Amino acid sequence: MIPFNKPYLTGKEDEYIIQSVKFGQLSGNGHFTKKCHNYFKQRYNFRKVFLTTSCTDALEMSALLLDIKDGDEIIMPSFTFVSTALAFVRQGAKIVFVDSSAENPNISVNEIEPLINKRTKAIVVVHYAGISVDMVKIMELAENYNLFVVEDAAQAIESQFKGKQLGGIGHLGVFSFHETKNVISGEGGLLVINDERFKKRAEIVWEKGTNRAEFFRGEVDKYGWVDIGSSFLPSEIVAAFLMAQLENLDKIQIKRKQLWDLYYKNLMSLIEKSRLKLPEIPNYATNNAHMFYLVCNSLKERTELIAYLKEKGVHAVFHYQGLHLSKYYFKKHDGRKLPNCEIYSNCLVRLPMFYELQVSEVLLISEMINHFYIKHKTKPRCINIKY
Ligand SMILES: *Cc1c(COP(=O)(O)O)cnc(C)c1O
Repeated sequence: MIPFNKPYLTGKEDEYIIQSVKFGQLSGNGHFTKKCHNYFKQRYNFRKVFLTTSCTDALEMSALLLDIKDGDEIIMPSFTFVSTALAFVRQGAKIVFVDSSAENPNISVNEIEPLINKRTKAIVVVHYAGISVDMVKIMELAENYNLFVVEDAAQAIESQFKGKQLGGIGHLGVFSFHETKNVISGEGGLLVINDERFKKRAEIVWEKGTNRAEFFRGEVDKYGWVDIGSSFLPSEIVAAFLMAQLENLDKIQIKRKQLWDLYYKNLMSLIEKSRLKLPEIPNYATNNAHMFYLVCNSLKERTELIAYLKEKGVHAVFHYQGLHLSKYYFKKHDGRKLPNCEIYSNCLVRLPMFYELQVSEVLLISEMINHFYIKHKTKPRCINIKY
């Protein structure tokens, strides 16, 4: 069976983990955490960053920093992972879900403005598959209506909008190092602070509501409880693992892009025949080969394609049932229909994509999909979304 994902070990993880133990500080914010912080600052010009135990945690920190309270409204796409919404719901916010665009599963930027009102506090964008949302339009809306912008860049390491690293454009940005992402630490995440106003408080929220960081810098003579917060920082073991991965980021990216391009090249003819839709990369965006997805013509066709691949030994998956239709939230949703989101929920397929996937396997999988469409009985037809 070709798995959907396989976590990749770069080779130095165990060495660094043992080093972290020998340094004598296993708790957070030690040698490797600082190394990771410096890495992100230097590589992406981020001004202030915090490793977190997950991207979910980085989103929760964001909700705390933005002071989200009962009755605040947060605008975000419905086609995303639960955590994007959950972090804000926990603070009492109402989520105003927006449809996906026709071109790709990202938020439909032109549908945001009519949903803004006095209670709106923030827009959370998700750079789905590492492909950027139009951040000029988002930041314009934020400026005009005095809103905060959080970039869920969980999938977007090494991806840019007009030459700028994603996660570094909104007021706050978050990344994930979950084992399914391009670089991993098992569970892990990063919060990026792009707005100076949040810098000081973020330090406190990160370390259980204490001013420990100030104390260790010698700025105060004792430390204690000064604000809300939680234990958002990961242990040095996690940071050590992540550092080994980061040192191999270029190598990982080269391989993933090679595989991605090969999928695209070998499936392209199916777009021309309107059999399916492949990712479109807008000219302001870059591709970080986080994910290779295709969009089938119907739920039935997708179910058959996934079953066909499974039978041939390939594990392909789908994901994101629109959050506005989720068991937890649908009664709280205001009832607006989000048709593109439903199409992606029903028709999107993710193909195997991981560092150790072989070129020959990508060729094989592409061949299977082409074969499926030659044999498949349903006539080609255009799905509702624009090609
Ligand atoms: C993976 C992912 C998350 C959650 O990341 P964790 O590190 O598992 O908490 C959130 N948002 C998006 C878009 C993701 O892809």
